[in-house]
Amino acid sequence: MGERNSVLKADWPSNDRPYEIAFGEGVEQRFQIKFAVAILKAKSRVLPILGIELAGWDVIAVATTPQELVRLALKDTPYSESALKRLATETCSRVNTGNSIYALAVHGLILVCKSPGASVGREITQSKLEDLAAHEFMHLVQFQLAGSASSNDRPDQASAERGPIWLLEGSAQAFANAVAFDRPAWTGRLAAMRKFPDGLPDLNELEHREMRSRAPIPVYFGGMIGAVDPVDKSGFPAIAKFYEILGRRGGWQRAFEEAFGISVDTYYTLFAEMERVNTQGAPLSGWLLRD
Ligand SMILES: [Zn+2]
Repeated sequence: MGERNSVLKADWPSNDRPYEIAFGEGVEQRFQIKFAVAILKAKSRVLPILGIELAGWDVIAVATTPQELVRLALKDTPYSESALKRLATETCSRVNTGNSIYALAVHGLILVCKSPGASVGREITQSKLEDLAAHEFMHLVQFQLAGSASSNDRPDQASAERGPIWLLEGSAQAFANAVAFDRPAWTGRLAAMRKFPDGLPDLNELEHREMRSRAPIPVYFGGMIGAVDPVDKSGFPAIAKFYEILGRRGGWQRAFEEAFGISVDTYYTLFAEMERVNTQGAPLSGWLLRD
């Protein structure tokens, strides 16, 4: 609505209120300000980087306990209490296992759980906060554009509605890299490549959502390389285009080919074979353009 008919754009909910951030009582004010700025930065980069504006509004809940997260999210989202409980518990359980802050996004909602004592500038660096905010914000963009499977859907169904998990997480990583570090996509790609000294993962095996927990490094960092390669060819807006086409439910493979101008199978072969650095280890950019 409004993407094609500009008259309808005047009615977009995001014109008045692009998102709502709700903080729990245990979240200190200094963190609230830093977090709000990080979200604002991510939001402000959507149009220049991805070339799109968003119609809807989203809710972002930040708290130090799952109970608080549920309370905040219940007020403004259509999710059931039991669904929110499950999501909030999962989010905060990651904080207890060593992270100072952890976030999770579903359609229209980001849940952020932070350790009560952790503050920006000490346990949480500014760039980590911006990276996290931009990564999750990219998920809101993807879900708004494509619609999104609920977290209870079968893995194959989720893959049909969200596209492959390597691209979902990989493009969120790539967007976060561009926002938080303000550097060319290929520098993030180079850093990601160092995680695979024995060769890149096979993207074909990283399509289904359960691979995110089974093989997180390949999904997030292999996926980031996989997302940046087509960016080299078509620019970041091609990623937004992919999710928009995906929303028309014609199948993700077709959306991929239409958005990136290359079939998934051909791309997977290129991904495995292509050189991304020269003999001095410096990044080569635009390799897909050389064909
Ligand atoms: Zn993610």
